[in-house]
Amino acid sequence: MTDTTNAKPPLTLRDLAGLRVDALNGVGPKRADALRKADVRTVLDILRYYPRRYIDRTRQEPIAQLVVGDERMVVGEVRRVDSRRIRGNRSMVTAKVSDGSGTISVTFFNQPWRTKQLYEGLDVALFGKVDEYNGSLQMSNPVVEPLGKQSATGKIVPVYPQSEKSKIASHDVAKWVAEALRRAEPRTLADPLPKSVKAQHRFIDRHEATVSIHQPESMKAMSEARRRLVFDELFAIQLELVRSQRHRQATEVGVDHAATGTLTDQMLDSLGFDLTAAQQRVIAEISEDMHRAHPMHRLLQGDVGAGKTLVAVHGLLSGVEGGFQGALMAPTEVLAEQHAIGIKALLDGMIVKDLNIATLLPERPLKVELLTNGVPTADRKRILAQTISGEVDILIGTHALIQDSVNFFNLGMVVIDEQHRFGVEQRAVLRAKAQGDKEPDVLVMTATPIPRTAAMTVYGDLDVSVLDELPPGRTPIVTKWAAGELEEGAMWDDVRAGVAAGRQAYVVCPLIDASDKIEARSATEVYEDLTGGELYGMSVALLHGRMTSAEKEEIMSKFRAGETSVLVSTTVIEVGVDVPNATVMVILDAGRFGIAQLHQLRGRVGRGEHASTCWLAGEVTTADGEARIDALVSSTDGFELAEIDLELRGEGTIMGERQKGQNDLRLASLRRDKDTVVLARQVANDLLDAQPPELEALIDDSAVILGNTDTEFLRKG
Ligand code: ADP
Ligand code: MG
Repeated sequence: MTDTTNAKPPLTLRDLAGLRVDALNGVGPKRADALRKADVRTVLDILRYYPRRYIDRTRQEPIAQLVVGDERMVVGEVRRVDSRRIRGNRSMVTAKVSDGSGTISVTFFNQPWRTKQLYEGLDVALFGKVDEYNGSLQMSNPVVEPLGKQSATGKIVPVYPQSEKSKIASHDVAKWVAEALRRAEPRTLADPLPKSVKAQHRFIDRHEATVSIHQPESMKAMSEARRRLVFDELFAIQLELVRSQRHRQATEVGVDHAATGTLTDQMLDSLGFDLTAAQQRVIAEISEDMHRAHPMHRLLQGDVGAGKTLVAVHGLLSGVEGGFQGALMAPTEVLAEQHAIGIKALLDGMIVKDLNIATLLPERPLKVELLTNGVPTADRKRILAQTISGEVDILIGTHALIQDSVNFFNLGMVVIDEQHRFGVEQRAVLRAKAQGDKEPDVLVMTATPIPRTAAMTVYGDLDVSVLDELPPGRTPIVTKWAAGELEEGAMWDDVRAGVAAGRQAYVVCPLIDASDKIEARSATEVYEDLTGGELYGMSVALLHGRMTSAEKEEIMSKFRAGETSVLVSTTVIEVGVDVPNATVMVILDAGRFGIAQLHQLRGRVGRGEHASTCWLAGEVTTADGEARIDALVSSTDGFELAEIDLELRGEGTIMGERQKGQNDLRLASLRRDKDTVVLARQVANDLLDAQPPELEALIDDSAVILGNTDTEFLRKG
């Protein structure tokens, strides 16, 4: 029989999160302060402060056996450090490093700070090419990894993120981690992941993984540890997302849109084209959601020009047919107005049942209205009154829709276009405008696709539809980089030729972060330069964010009507603008824009039957800038570009789409660990179905891993 009287229960993550890091030996107030800056406050935080990389000492070479010309790693103790000035006022730092078998000298040119990094007695790993100087072995400017004193133990040495400024050295972290693990003994870390899951997916135990990620016996042991801990991180997120989705499905009461399809059929018949297969599929997915009595929460991802608007209108119209109102919110006045014009035209002449008993009419024309801050007061009053009485069937607008004064009669369907431009809160406010206790159906749309597994993490509580097909007959946009004067000459030739052939063009002005005002001024300068130079004699208009709504409206309507040939604009035209006759896009100083933004801007052309060109102009001064331009030149596929963007910008930025600041992913990478995202999702679903006894502990782990604020955040959806 085992003696259980002295056995203490295993430590949970919550237990570890309750132990302050300054309880560890060697963490005084100063170190604690430095650690706090690195977001390390508790013993759990230090255990989740993972090595950045590892030095595999099984591959190290004894200094005595080094051969000149080879690239090798040696590990030894620093013996002496000298620094002096050499010719050209350059600095030279030399150090001697010995490992018992021999000594090598190390030379650094123009790195005076090395005298602070290296000191006598410090163990270091050196990577570099071995050469010879005055008959002795030497490495010049090798890669140096300070190891501290713990390096004598263990074959694999962890290297932690360290910062000069906060004075956290890698070997300090290793020491604290070791102490935390030692002090936990004989208790182990609790591992609520059910045995069956561990067996099925060959996951090692959490305790073993935690030890091995910090003190691996081999690189293989490290990668097994990483696999388990990456799963834990991603699983925590998925468990929360799936739970919040299920909670919503169980508690929220939605609207059953009992649409007959008469109006939507009428609309589809009036189009001069057929829906793409993708549009048909997505419309079916949405209709199915709308016919259910729990509310739809769906994300529609579709590349620029894929025809999302039509899908949205179909949804709004089915809502109207079932006797409900619809709302469509867009991020800019230009886009809201364009939607209003397009949708009014599309639905012109349709008749709906009149549900407003006051009017005593059985039927009336369907009514679409536009509400922005630019709408004159008298109109605004009328629109607000007709929205609350139910006479307005579809209300289109900007942020103006979420003002307190806007009230609906019976809002049943909400569409949010270019949703990434809105905050979580703003979307929630619009949804809350529905009367009574029934939640409206919500469709959020984005033309900024993110890779599927990233979407699963960032939007994991939404159902996702994808429009992965462009309408037929589009000629792919040709993208060119005008890096020098010669190419820029060709670019303006192209604009003039396009206009001469009856087409239209956009010129997007350089991105300026400073302010609307400065951006507007710079756009005005570009406009003046061009009208006096490259575009002399042509009908050119200027559009920027500092103009009044009426001015913007007039400029856009003239451009839409083809009365102006060239529109010089700031990024106010970035999203959604749809003028099929425009075929040339010029983006000035393109190196300053991000990939997603360039792709959006480019999407303003190539929307009709004519072949289109996009010119990316200007010198590019950074490697990343060049990589972005190359990506745009070589691909027009938004999903492919999203992958490249993720490669270039790295992690964190993706979570940042939804959540500014802190990134939950300490170890997992949405790029490297795609398969684990899918697996974590599946396991979360399975466990929530099976409700094993460990579930409660798993949920608590998730809350601890994500931190309370994050959990709330994920719940809000
Ligand atoms: P986005 O997905 O970028 O919002 P839009 O909804 O603005 O794209 O559609 C782009 C253009 O394609 C519009 O002019 C629209 O009328 C047209 N369009 C949409 N669906 C089809 C289709 N099935 N066939 C042909 N043209 C279409
Ligand atoms: Mg759109």
